[in-house]
Amino acid sequence: MQRLISLRSKSNSLKSLFNPLKSPQKHSISADWSSCFHQSWSLIASKGCFNRVFSYGLWPSCAKMRNFDKNQGFVRRFSSEAQRESIEYDVVIVGAGPAGLSAAIRLKQLSSEKGVDLSVCVVEKGPEVGAHILSGNVFEPRALDELLPHWKEEEAPINVPVSSDKFWFLTKDRAFSLPCPFDNKGNYVISLSQLVRWMGIKAEEFGVEIYPGFAASEILYDANDSVVGIGTNDMGIAKDGSKKDTFQRGVELKGRVTLLAEGCRGSLSEKLIKKYKLREKGHAQHQTYALGIKEVWEIDESKHKPGAVLHTIGWPLDQKTYGGSFLYHMKDRQVSIGLVVALNYHNPYLNPYEEFQKFKHHPAIRPLLEGGTVIQYGARTLNEGGIQSIPYPVFPGGAIIGCSAGFLNVPKIKGTHTAMKSGTNHINHTVWLIFA
Ligand SMILES: Cc1cc2nc3c(=O)[nH]c(=O)nc-3n(C[C@H](O)[C@H](O)[C@H](O)COP(=O)(O)OP(=O)(O)OC[C@H]3O[C@@H](n4cnc5c(N)ncnc54)[C@H](O)[C@@H]3O)c2cc1C
Repeated sequence: MQRLISLRSKSNSLKSLFNPLKSPQKHSISADWSSCFHQSWSLIASKGCFNRVFSYGLWPSCAKMRNFDKNQGFVRRFSSEAQRESIEYDVVIVGAGPAGLSAAIRLKQLSSEKGVDLSVCVVEKGPEVGAHILSGNVFEPRALDELLPHWKEEEAPINVPVSSDKFWFLTKDRAFSLPCPFDNKGNYVISLSQLVRWMGIKAEEFGVEIYPGFAASEILYDANDSVVGIGTNDMGIAKDGSKKDTFQRGVELKGRVTLLAEGCRGSLSEKLIKKYKLREKGHAQHQTYALGIKEVWEIDESKHKPGAVLHTIGWPLDQKTYGGSFLYHMKDRQVSIGLVVALNYHNPYLNPYEEFQKFKHHPAIRPLLEGGTVIQYGARTLNEGGIQSIPYPVFPGGAIIGCSAGFLNVPKIKGTHTAMKSGTNHINHTVWLIFA
C-alpha cells in the first residue's frame, strides 16, 4: 500500500478512504441493463452508503497519508489480508484514457450537483496518465463541449483547427485526389496524450483519485459472481517467477461499480465479455481489429501547414488488404503520420511496419519528411468491427466503456469522442437513476 501512497503523494487530491464500519454490500444484478445499473447504483445511492461517506468520511492531507498508521484509525476502510490490502471506493475505473477519465469527471460533476459525494478511483497501467496513448489525432470536440464546456478558457491543449482535408488514392508513383469522405470542419488536430494528461488534471481537481503505474490484472467477484472490483498486479517478480526482495503483493481496489475503460481489446474486458457472454447477449458479431503504426515527425518550417489533414488509400496495400494512411499537421512543426492495416490480411508475408516504411518513401510523401526527425513512434490496435460488433456493455457490478467495448466509429476513423460519450452516457443514465 505504501507504493500507492508514495505514488500519490505528489497530488494534493489524494483522499482518505472512508468508513469501513459496515461490510460492503453484496449485489446481484439482473439481465436487463437499465435494471442492472438501477440495482447497482441504488446500492451506491442507498442512504446508508452516503451517510457513511458524510458522517464518517475523512479527508486527511497527503502528509497524513504518508504517516499512515493503522492504529490511528482514520483510514477506516482498509481491510488488510495477510499479504494483500484492500481499499474500497464507490466506483473503480480501469484505464485513464478518454473514456475512463470522462466517466470519472462526469460522476464527480453529477454527484456534486446533487450535493453528495462518491469516491471514484482510476487505475492506469502507464507510468503516468497519457503515457500509453498515441499522439496525433483529429479530434471531434462535441463530447468535450458537453463534459467541460469551458475547455478553451481552461487551456485545454486543443488549439490547431483543421485547415484542410484531403483524400488521395495512391499508386506506386502517383497520387490521385478524390472527394473527401470525411467532414472534419470544426475538428482539431491534437496530441491525444496531451489532452488525456489535461483531463487527468481536471479529474483530480474534481476529486478523482488516479493511480498511475498500476495495471489491473485480476477481476474480483463476490459470492453471487458479481464483479466487486479489481486486483492490481504483483510487483517484484523475477523472470523465473520467484519473488525478488522488492516483491510487493498487488492491492485490491473494490468498487460498488467497476467500469472497464481499457481501450481496444482490454484483457479484463475480454475476460468479462466471455464470462458473461456479453457478445451473445448483445447479438453482436465478433470484433475485428487493425494495427495502427504511427510516428510523430518534426519537419521543416516551410513545409509545415498547421491543421492540414490527409488520408490515403491504395498503395502500398494491395486490393485485398483493408487499410490506409493518415498524415496530420499538428503544431510546433510536428506532423503525425501513420498507416492502419486491418489484421485480416491474406498475405502471410505482409509486414505492416515494412508497408509503412514504403509509404513514407512515396514520391508524394517523401519530400515532406526529408530533413525531418522522428521524435515519437508507437503502434496500437484499433477496433474495426463497428456498431454491429459492440457487445452488451453491462455486466453484473459494472460496465465496459470506450474502445474496450468497441465504440469506435469506423467510417469516420474516430473513437475519441465516442469513447468519451460512452463513458458519460453510462454515468448520466446511472446517476439519473440514483437521484431519481
Ligand atoms: C493509430 C491510431 C489513430 C487514431 N486516430 C484517431 C483520430 O484521429 N481521431 C479519433 O477520434 N480517434 C482516433 N483513434 C482512436 C482513439 O485513439 C481511441 O478510440 C480512443 O483512444 C479510445 O479511448 P479509450 O479511453 O476507450 O481507450 P484508450 O485511449 O486506449 O485508453 C485506455 C487506457 O487504459 C489503460 N489500460 C488498459 N488496460 C489497463 C489495465 N488492465 N489496467 C490499468 N490500465 C489499463 C491504457 O494504458 C490506456 O491509458 C486512433 C487510434 C489509433 C490506434
